Amino acid sequence: IRKIGVLTSGGDAPGMNAAIRAVVRTALFHDIQVIGIRKGYNGLLNGEIKEMYSKDVSNVMNLGGTILHTARCPEMMTQEGLNKAAAIYKILGLDALVVIGGDGSYRGMAELAKLGVNCIGIPATIDLDMNSTEYSIGFDTAVNTGMDALNKLRDTSSSHERCSVVEVMGRDAGYIAVWCGMVGGAEDVMFPEAKGVIDSQKVIQQILENRSIGKRHNLIVVAEGVGGTQKLAKDIQDITGIQTRATILGHLQRGGSPTAIDRMHASMMGYHAVKAILEGKENQVICFNKGKYEIIGLEESLGMEKTLDQDIYNVIKILAI
Ligand code: ADP
Repeated sequence: IRKIGVLTSGGDAPGMNAAIRAVVRTALFHDIQVIGIRKGYNGLLNGEIKEMYSKDVSNVMNLGGTILHTARCPEMMTQEGLNKAAAIYKILGLDALVVIGGDGSYRGMAELAKLGVNCIGIPATIDLDMNSTEYSIGFDTAVNTGMDALNKLRDTSSSHERCSVVEVMGRDAGYIAVWCGMVGGAEDVMFPEAKGVIDSQKVIQQILENRSIGKRHNLIVVAEGVGGTQKLAKDIQDITGIQTRATILGHLQRGGSPTAIDRMHASMMGYHAVKAILEGKENQVICFNKGKYEIIGLEESLGMEKTLDQDIYNVIKILAI
């Protein structure tokens, strides 16, 4: 192994820089040359590359976003684009390509693997919606940002005796929502996995019950994958007469200096990715499951299933009385 490439792809996540740093420095430690590829798969196709030295990853651990920048890359969805990417990988003389990204980026890796590219994945998405791993880089920072927002909204909702409906990110998954709901002390959480269990009528009923027992303000979390936050706020106000405000956190949750948890996982996963390459592993992804870092075949990882532990929701309801 003499030379590897590294890129960040798909949606950005706080901690990606710590992962880049770990990949670059672990590789350099083992005398492997590292090529940084900008803007995800786009950089591979357009030749936006640059050799990375140790100093290139100085002072980046604490930064949100990604110093390599990231983007979606539609060209990768065509056979022509994939052939070109694989050809450039070979021209560059790379022995492996480390991709830091989400499930979409992993699907891109699987296509490149068919063309002889040795792809190693590091899971990074704030949404936690990757089936092969219980942790993905960025989640903890996003939840902390959500918690911070909920704390602040709680202050003002309490002063004005209002109801606050807060939409958090998560795409089609409710991980961020239930975590924010729990740690922010929300009364209720609407998340996609609970379809049929919790709906707006039940939430409104809950608000009315809580008011009848003396609660003077309300905090409701809605997952991006459920949506309809403005309408829910309006319905709550119309039906209950309680002043209700909707807040959509949106991309705020994508940014910020990564938490200790994100820096730790990113550093360890970056190290494990390079270690796997040194051991001659091909087309694998790094995972964190049952408290341990492990490595799983790329194809296998894409076929795996994971479910949100709905017990968290049951506890939120118990604690919301
Ligand atoms: P994430 O990695 O955060 O889930 P996306 O779903 O946007 O983000 O995927 C990132 C990129 O991965 C896409 O823009 C595309 O270039 C590539 N990609 C996704 N799915 C495929 C696929 N089926 N074949 C080839 N490339 C893909």
